Amino acid sequence: MSAIRTVAVYCGSNTGKGDAYLRAASKLGTVLAVRGIEIVYGGTHKGLMGALADAALAGGGYVTGVITERLKAKGHTHQQLNAIEALPTMQARKKRMIELADAFIAMPGGIGTLEEFMEVWTLNQLGEIAKPAGLYDAQGYYQPLMGMVDHMIAEQFLPASHHKAIVVQSAPEALIDGLVNFAPVTTQKWMS
Ligand code: AMP
Repeated sequence: MSAIRTVAVYCGSNTGKGDAYLRAASKLGTVLAVRGIEIVYGGTHKGLMGALADAALAGGGYVTGVITERLKAKGHTHQQLNAIEALPTMQARKKRMIELADAFIAMPGGIGTLEEFMEVWTLNQLGEIAKPAGLYDAQGYYQPLMGMVDHMIAEQFLPASHHKAIVVQSAPEALIDGLVNFAPVTTQKWMS
């Protein structure tokens, strides 16, 4: 079982179609606040990120934003956060988020979200970090990605056991429980 004090949440800077993803982001923010788990995220008021932070703050949660100096100068920073750190580059920003977090969650989002999540999955796969990572599969958003993961396994670019190397859940409570109870996959990445 992992003690999770802080979760880094990666999520869209857009809100997605309709309001279902916004509701999902608010729910995650509320659940993390209720469970006393601090949030580290991209630091903006935009998109799902803004909804997540607003809900967590409204629930009495502690939220740290980690943003780039460039995005900060453009006025993207959420003004009500408990703490904000501005880093010179996206790379430095991602590194800092990984340092601060005990676990990672990706909500629905675009290429930025995917890239951040794939980086932490890869670092776990290579043993550079040992911090649980999970997909918040709201509206089944990540099923096509999991189909791609199945394809990687079928085509022998990924060991089958690595399917379980991340937690995938469509409800925040189950997702957080999955991260807390996560058992790391020990099969090495190379198949021959
Ligand atoms: P995307 O999924 O492409 O919308 O990108 C979202 C991810 O990239 C977030 O998890 C952030 O870490 C980062 N990001 C993208 N846009 C911004 C922004 N305006 N402010 C802060 N971070 C951002």
